[in-house]
Amino acid sequence: MSAKPHSDSLAAIFVRLIAATGPLSLAQFMAESNARYYMTRDPLGGDGDFVTAPEISQMFGELIGLWLADMWMRAGCDEPVHYVELGPGRGTLARDALLAAQRFGLTPRIHFVESSLALKARQLALHPTAQWHDSLASVPTIGPILLVANEFLDALPVRQLVRTPQGWRERMVAFDDTSSGGGTFMFVAGSQPRDSALPAGNLEQDCREAPEGTIVETCPAAAAIVYEVAGRLVAQGGAALFIDYGYAEPQTGSTLQAVRDHRSIDPFAAPGDSDLSAHVDFGALAQVAQSLEARWLGTVGQGQFLRALGIEDRAAKLAAAAPQHAEAIIAARDRLIGEGEMGTLFKVMGLAAPRWPEPAGF
Ligand code: SAH
Repeated sequence: MSAKPHSDSLAAIFVRLIAATGPLSLAQFMAESNARYYMTRDPLGGDGDFVTAPEISQMFGELIGLWLADMWMRAGCDEPVHYVELGPGRGTLARDALLAAQRFGLTPRIHFVESSLALKARQLALHPTAQWHDSLASVPTIGPILLVANEFLDALPVRQLVRTPQGWRERMVAFDDTSSGGGTFMFVAGSQPRDSALPAGNLEQDCREAPEGTIVETCPAAAAIVYEVAGRLVAQGGAALFIDYGYAEPQTGSTLQAVRDHRSIDPFAAPGDSDLSAHVDFGALAQVAQSLEARWLGTVGQGQFLRALGIEDRAAKLAAAAPQHAEAIIAARDRLIGEGEMGTLFKVMGLAAPRWPEPAGF
């Protein structure tokens, strides 16, 4: 942020809050920024800030719908069955997935967990019979759940710890009003020791000796959601797919980023007006799910997953049926599965109830 912020802008609210109560945790900064961001707009698509896989091609949602239908059929076609989507955006993935699933007799009840009023309105237009929820807590507890979350976990607030000469501290956001152009947000280390907040496991060992300035990022909100989903799978049956950019092995460093108008910007430049996200720590989430005895089906690249489900055949069929669109269909396929495109950066993590069948794609 370089110019003096508008008095009702989120930046101005943060400045007043920091003046009154001291630096904010990064997690609070990110949570409030994204709440304001998603509440006030539809950020998806060419006119928005970023494009997601279901908005690139119908093939993405169709193959996910077939994966869910295949799991549900081989598990015994239990009813009632619930399609649950976390952060369904424009509702495009649900539309494509449910159309494909319907051909196999899967017509689940539809539940959307969504916080944005702007996006709920778009979802309602495509899914008039859906039910909306503020959290998973109100989703019915009888009957298997088939859950999908695409680019949802990456929007949840991360916490960062930084190694200082005095030990580990929380990374906080302060405001420097002495800098030019009206002041700027900046990172400072919190005043309280946080050594006990380091994640357990291998990383903890490495981190004890980590050099000054090392950053460890965790996402307690994502862990809490995966824990709840795993509990539901174990209790009710079902399967879940979490798709996001992320990493499977523990790592250090900040992955916080901000996107506006399809470009990367400084995360402090426009709080509430840019999309803040962080890479998903799939290794940590797999452990959380398994701690409740849900089955972790694997975490694989999006390209590998979609190829195994037959995206190449599907693209060829669509292209043959509409030769005038063949070039665009092939370009979309390559964007979804290409190395260095979404194919490797994005990962798919599958979870299932203990006695559910072996999945395709992993
Ligand atoms: N899955 C969609 C949209 C991804 S954008 C797609 O792939 O196109 C992130 C979505 O998660 C949006 O729908 C946003 O409004 C929703 N969202 C973000 N944070 C949320 C939260 N804390 N609770 C519920 N929904 C949230």
